[in-house]
Amino acid sequence: MALREIVTVGDPVLRERARDVSVAELATPRVQGLIDDMIETMRAAGGAGLAANQVGETVRVAVVEVRPDNPRYPYKPAVPLTVIVNPEIEPVEDDVEQINEGCLSVPNLRGEVPRQMAIRVRYLDRDGVQQEEVRRGLTAGTFQHELDHLDGVLFLDRVTDPATLSTWDQFQRFHRADFEKRAREIVERTGS
Ligand code: ZN
Repeated sequence: MALREIVTVGDPVLRERARDVSVAELATPRVQGLIDDMIETMRAAGGAGLAANQVGETVRVAVVEVRPDNPRYPYKPAVPLTVIVNPEIEPVEDDVEQINEGCLSVPNLRGEVPRQMAIRVRYLDRDGVQQEEVRRGLTAGTFQHELDHLDGVLFLDRVTDPATLSTWDQFQRFHRADFEKRAREIVERTGS
């Protein structure tokens, strides 16, 4: 396993649509090694997720994990490590909330993004087994953020009011209390 460099906004690879991975390719040491590296890189950076584009690989692979003590997003409920290959998502309800997001590829910036609060996700796990599940609340938002990366979309593109953009310091000073209150309400309502 090895840490990979996380590319930042402006690198064209973040704007590419990643390609599907076949079950045969998924089983190769190259792709399994990429998945291991992505998990290690996400954990080292304190991220809640990481998509392959963010380490310069245009394959439809993403990882999500929120540990209870995540330093970047202390209000997020824990999510067990999930490896997502060739994902497809669809909303299952009309419920949409504004979520304050950041991104490892967009250093020192956060902003408010509308996210579906209930989605159905279909994907292959790292063993090539088809999975289908409904994800809700903040966790649904995290999945949408990572899957956007695989389509070359950044959270910046989805910020509907640029006046909500802030550095991490200014988020702490001016916006954190309000957002954490809203985040708690979402977690209470949706269970995640
Ligand atoms: Zn991101």
